[in-house]
Amino acid sequence: MYIKDIFKEKKPVISFEIFPPKKESNIKTIYKTIDELAQLNPDYISVTYGASGSIKNNKTVEISSFIKREYKIEPLSHLTCINSSKKEIDEILNQLIENNISNVLALRGDIPNDKNIKKEFNYAEDLIRYISKKKKFSIGAACYPEGHIEARNKSLDLYYLNKKVNAGTDFLITQLFFDNKYFYDFREKLKNRNINIPLQAGIMPVVNKKQVEKIVSMCGVNIPEKFIKIMNKYENNKEALIDAGVTYACDQIIDLLTTGVDGIHLYVMNKSKIAKEIVKRITSILKINIKMEE
Ligand code: FAD
Repeated sequence: MYIKDIFKEKKPVISFEIFPPKKESNIKTIYKTIDELAQLNPDYISVTYGASGSIKNNKTVEISSFIKREYKIEPLSHLTCINSSKKEIDEILNQLIENNISNVLALRGDIPNDKNIKKEFNYAEDLIRYISKKKKFSIGAACYPEGHIEARNKSLDLYYLNKKVNAGTDFLITQLFFDNKYFYDFREKLKNRNINIPLQAGIMPVVNKKQVEKIVSMCGVNIPEKFIKIMNKYENNKEALIDAGVTYACDQIIDLLTTGVDGIHLYVMNKSKIAKEIVKRITSILKINIKMEE
């Protein structure tokens, strides 16, 4: 099923994001994670694409295919284009078609340090236009309520986002944010530009101080004072930090759902227990039917 059609049928759409393990030997652990996530009955599960952009040893299609085959849950396969040739992109798209996968999150990816990169696709917009012409996929794209880290300013970033949407994007997933105010401002700006496709809010339950610091340095999102205090107070108490991180994420989600958000995309970072804890705490609010209880 196309994810764009799930958005027509259901609100809120609930999804989880996972990443393929770096080591081949850890592949079994991801299958266990998927099994646990599947019990939570998400509308779809997205699988990231390696930051290197290399199609070699890429497990995204294999894992997406497993999700569809074993659990009949729609996978959303991420695909980055910077440093890939058209031939390589076609290779992946053909693999997706062969595996009956019809949803792609089309991304540019981070620019590698290597100066000799392939330049057949410069921006996500180019990839989206290319995939859209094939008429085989429902296409999602990334967006940034606080602005993309490379953007000169937010209005230019929005201008390019508008072009990306017009190139054939069916739905948007936001970068994570810890302050809902940025999401609401952003949603208003999209409305003003007549961008009316579904907008799913990306939420990351944070359970590790170092993880937050890394994310902030990579994507430049703001961390509210209240959240910094929680991290500082509980950084040496793992269980308390998990409790506080899950509670914080639940508060964000409840607030978003109260204002009628189209969907919640949980960056679960392969931590199925955390996803389960969130879903259990606010099952009726998420309107999710857990398949199996312990
Ligand atoms: P684009 O939309 O191309 O934008 C990149 C920058 O270029 C922006 O600053 C934009 O304003 C600017 N821009 C866009 N179009 C133009 C134009 N025509 N002319 C000039 N400037 C332009 N990374 C991975 O490696 N693998 C993943 O699986 C992955 N999944 C992600 C999932 C989500 C939901 C999000 C939010 C991000 C994900 N990323 C992933 C990170 C993403 O690859 C980076 O944020 C990357 O730097 C930008 O990708 P994009 O698709 O948003 O790029």
